[in-house]
Amino acid sequence: MSLFSPRRYQPRFYPYDHPNAFLRFVGWGEYVIKSPLFGCRMCGNCILQETAFICPMTCPKGLRNGPCGGSTPERCEVDPSRPCTWYQIYERSENMGRTDILLEIQAPLDGRNVGHEQWLGLVKKWFQGEERPNPVHFIVDRKKWNERYDRFFLEMRQPDWWQGDALYHPPAYEQPVSNLERSLKAGRFTVTSEIAPPLSVTRKPLERKIEMLKPYVTAANFTDNASASPRMGSIACSAICVANGMEPVMQLQGRDRSRYSIQSDAIGAAELGIRNILCLSGDHLRLGPGPTPHPVQNDLDAIQMLWILRRMRDDGIYLDGRSIKNRPQFFLGAAASPYAAVPRYEAIREEKKVNAGAQFIQTQPIYDYDRFLEWLEAVDKRNLLHKVYILAGITPLKSARAAHFMADDVPGVVIPEEIVKRMDNASDQAEEGVAIALEIIEKLRSTPGIHGLHIMAVQWEDIVPRLMEESGLPLPMEITEPLETPASD
Ligand code: SF4
Repeated sequence: MSLFSPRRYQPRFYPYDHPNAFLRFVGWGEYVIKSPLFGCRMCGNCILQETAFICPMTCPKGLRNGPCGGSTPERCEVDPSRPCTWYQIYERSENMGRTDILLEIQAPLDGRNVGHEQWLGLVKKWFQGEERPNPVHFIVDRKKWNERYDRFFLEMRQPDWWQGDALYHPPAYEQPVSNLERSLKAGRFTVTSEIAPPLSVTRKPLERKIEMLKPYVTAANFTDNASASPRMGSIACSAICVANGMEPVMQLQGRDRSRYSIQSDAIGAAELGIRNILCLSGDHLRLGPGPTPHPVQNDLDAIQMLWILRRMRDDGIYLDGRSIKNRPQFFLGAAASPYAAVPRYEAIREEKKVNAGAQFIQTQPIYDYDRFLEWLEAVDKRNLLHKVYILAGITPLKSARAAHFMADDVPGVVIPEEIVKRMDNASDQAEEGVAIALEIIEKLRSTPGIHGLHIMAVQWEDIVPRLMEESGLPLPMEITEPLETPASD
């Protein structure tokens, strides 16, 4: 237990290499002081000053840029007996008037510093620098204090190889790189749909679903071992989709992957003709069917993934600075969980994703329309609606059992009591589920700020054509000109 942070979920980090005895002694001293105060784990890349003195490494997923979509104010997705670390960071930052600093995109850990002390460098900087914070300003000019304070710690939190900031980085190209982007850019109400990857070594069911959905939706999402359950990988499914003449949205999640494999998978996907990539932090290993492995932390979160992939596309560089001769063309997306936290906190996270590089957002399924509008309003207040395309999530409920499961067990999904009751009392539950989905579609399609829908009919993809026909949603736009192909050797 610590004084200012929630209890840590993981043990402290130890360094891989051992510096001299004096540095070890200083490191030990830093740990002895910071551990009881902040639950410090000696990550060696401290951002405590930016997170209102609540250690983000107490988050079970180790997320350094905000909460995951599965947490709620009351409980963490991974360990429901504890509150969400990030929710506490938001609350305290708001009380301190320091929510703006939370928009800065924080780097993943630099392994060379992990486990090592950081205080000596700070002491040296304090005595060398003219720009150190002046304690008098803390009393007489809090704005100036904050400016100098943030600048003082900037080098420590933004290493040369990262250089994260709190600015919006629009895509550095004009012509759409995918048909999904082309459709959204043309102002057409656009629909995507999810196809569950097969459990076995067969492409037949996948191809059947692709053929069935092709006339109705602009692109098909392939999940990346959702709920930590292994299936055919999203890269393979996306490649099969391309080969069958349909555009995929390849989901790529940080869980199970390192910074190296994410860059490698993205480059490989680009070569296979996959242009739309949805970046996710990923459901925690705990949610898997088991036996569950020892919980490890993400190397990258969704925001860091977006930052890296955008720079590969727009700046032509890998994270390590090597240049990419033939740059990949990505239309980058992110997920949003409108019901996870209070809307004004959730919108901070969406702004960060958009700033990092998200060009479209697909949301969790919407059942509570009024609460969804609150989220949309918070996103609008952050001036995001003209910077990102929003596709609202739709999941038709096939049975009352599915409704209860979604309401009780799926993180980030809220189903109002009246909808659950309607499902419970229906004589034909699947028909009632379709009726509810059509009602929600009707509301969403006329909601300003919504650019399309993302239908996630889990293991019920056959219902998508019916939803499209009965709701009268526009079909995919006719493609008359091929997309520009990237340069290659
Ligand atoms: S951010 Fe890292 S160094 Fe700072 S308190 Fe947390 S674990 Fe310790």
